[in-house]
Amino acid sequence: MSINRPRLSFAQAIEAYLHYAPRLPSVAVVDVPVKTDYVDNLLVIVDQFDLIVFDAFGVLNSGPTAIPGAVKTIAALQGMGKKIAVVTNDASSSAEAILARHRKRGFDFDNGNLISSQQFVAPLMNEHVDIAHWGAMAPADWPFHVLPDRVERLGNDRGLYDSVGGFLLIDSENWSDQQQKMLEQSLTDNPRPILVGNPDICAPMGDFLSVESGYFAHLAADACGVMPQCVGKPYHHVFEEVLRRHPGVDRARVLMVGDTVHTDVLGGLASGIKTLLVHQGGFLDGQDIEDVFSRSGLRPHFCARAIGHGLADDPNIPAEQAACWGT
Ligand SMILES: [Mg+2]
Repeated sequence: MSINRPRLSFAQAIEAYLHYAPRLPSVAVVDVPVKTDYVDNLLVIVDQFDLIVFDAFGVLNSGPTAIPGAVKTIAALQGMGKKIAVVTNDASSSAEAILARHRKRGFDFDNGNLISSQQFVAPLMNEHVDIAHWGAMAPADWPFHVLPDRVERLGNDRGLYDSVGGFLLIDSENWSDQQQKMLEQSLTDNPRPILVGNPDICAPMGDFLSVESGYFAHLAADACGVMPQCVGKPYHHVFEEVLRRHPGVDRARVLMVGDTVHTDVLGGLASGIKTLLVHQGGFLDGQDIEDVFSRSGLRPHFCARAIGHGLADDPNIPAEQAACWGT
């Protein structure tokens, strides 16, 4: 992702998540924990889990930068032999490119660790056997060749919006108000399927929240009445894939770690696994978290400032190594 994208304030983002919550997967009240245990960091509770599933933005990194203590925590978990999955709604580039960015930040992940919402876009397209031509919200360098059917990037030609059989909202970089207006008008005139590869409303990008394609999908749905079909958290496909890759793990010993109540925590709860919410450097940084829990009717099993809170400043760690964790 780049910083070349529209922005939201925290208040706007949380209002949007609350407003559109009825369109998200539902969780039975009985599956929401009664209370949240506040812990220092992930390592305090890690003995309870064999498989730990990480959101990326807001947990491992904020924009291009690793969150302090995160690299050390992941290395410690790998040293303990814990199973690790990274589940990202970042559909902006290939899995290889996403992995390369994580490695540059200092995380030692490979293909077996990463599950991107992007990989579920093609199967979703294949469910629409009557559509052979799609219009896409995606960057110019997006790997369209991985998709079936004819896919054209939506720009400023209204004719293209009207001629395609359906829409793929994959990544909102450089998406303009004018493009959104054409999308909504074209869909209002002729409702067609809307497939969403990144259902996030926003993502923490360092010092601001970027507007993600899920937000534009909701606006389009408001305009034309067509409910978007989404892959990625909090929807089931990614969680099923995590559990499929680790068939021997007891679901009671799986932990989802994320920074967003309506994607990571909701998706984890809906999948019947435990959840840890982190808030330093993520979506909820500096916010009244208990207020968000009470307004959403959702809460995680655990809450910590960061997965490696306190670890980056450990005096037993050489300064030059600690400095690497913040880059
Ligand atoms: Mg996140």
